[in-house]
Amino acid sequence: MSDTVTRPTAEMLEAMMTAPVGDDVFGEDPTINALQEKVSRLFGHEAALFCPSGTMTNQIALQVHLHALEEVICEENAHIYQFETGGYAHNARCAVSLIKGSYGKMTARQVEDAIKMPHDWLPKTRLVSIENSCNKGGGTYYTLPEATDIKEVCHKHQLRFHLDGARLFNVLVETGDQTSEWGSLFDTVSICLSKGLGAPVGSLLIGSKALIDQARRFRKVMGGGMRQAGILAAAGIYALDHHVERLKEDNDRAKEIGKVLNEKGFVENVRPVQTNIVIADLVESLTAAEYIRQLNEREIRAVAMGSHAVRFVTHLNITDEMMEYALEVIRKM
Ligand SMILES: *Cc1c(COP(=O)(O)O)cnc(C)c1O
Repeated sequence: MSDTVTRPTAEMLEAMMTAPVGDDVFGEDPTINALQEKVSRLFGHEAALFCPSGTMTNQIALQVHLHALEEVICEENAHIYQFETGGYAHNARCAVSLIKGSYGKMTARQVEDAIKMPHDWLPKTRLVSIENSCNKGGGTYYTLPEATDIKEVCHKHQLRFHLDGARLFNVLVETGDQTSEWGSLFDTVSICLSKGLGAPVGSLLIGSKALIDQARRFRKVMGGGMRQAGILAAAGIYALDHHVERLKEDNDRAKEIGKVLNEKGFVENVRPVQTNIVIADLVESLTAAEYIRQLNEREIRAVAMGSHAVRFVTHLNITDEMMEYALEVIRKM
């Protein structure tokens, strides 16, 4: 259904219980400071900011990069456009230039073509945001060269570049790329600890010291200043130390689910399965709601991604037995 449903493991809970804490609004929580330093170092940036959610890190990024009458270029399936309650308009008061990409991905050429001319009657293009992996694209990913091409367009036109890397680690275990290679392309990067990494709460926004100083103010005004949240940061440190490599297993399992779905007559298309997400587009006669009802009856959970698309996600709380059961049930339906 979603890798957001994961529960902390016993070892993670132990790390949380023994974490030293302080008041992070004063910058005095040693565990949060350690997490922020760890993550900024990983991505080769000066600073990072621990936030309650990936929606908040993305929304803060829009606010630090954009002013009124400016716009962000993103793919039409982007989380910042689709799934953040229209926050780009509410929080950043910006315009959005939507690109119809392929499975969530835009090309450098498409981005360059979308940049507005400097006329009074046009919003000013200021930011490009990409998502990796692409959630609504079906877990597809940009390769490093593809992202580098877009970075070059941003550089040429003096645009800021943001990465919604909610599931970036699922990509890195597939490609073998380094976090620092990805970090070097962007002004800001958002990562989530509460998806496949299995922490209960938390995302980080990564960037220069100047941008993150600004981000701290936006976090506060959005109500995201937390106190002894080192308990949560400890789970994040644990996840980064112990739950990254195993994401490969989630990706491999998703591919197995994709294969089984591909053989079903009621499935019109399985979007390319590249990481831990599987989205199946169903035939006209079977709605997502009806298929999910049938899956739920058999204790399998999935979510609708539109009227005829169903999303399955693998994660660390799924056992071998659960996988076998799910594959068997899907095969027989
Ligand atoms: C989950 C997700 C987010 C952030 O979601 P929260 O639930 O607010 O943490 C951002 N972008 C993408 C692509 C996501 O999948």
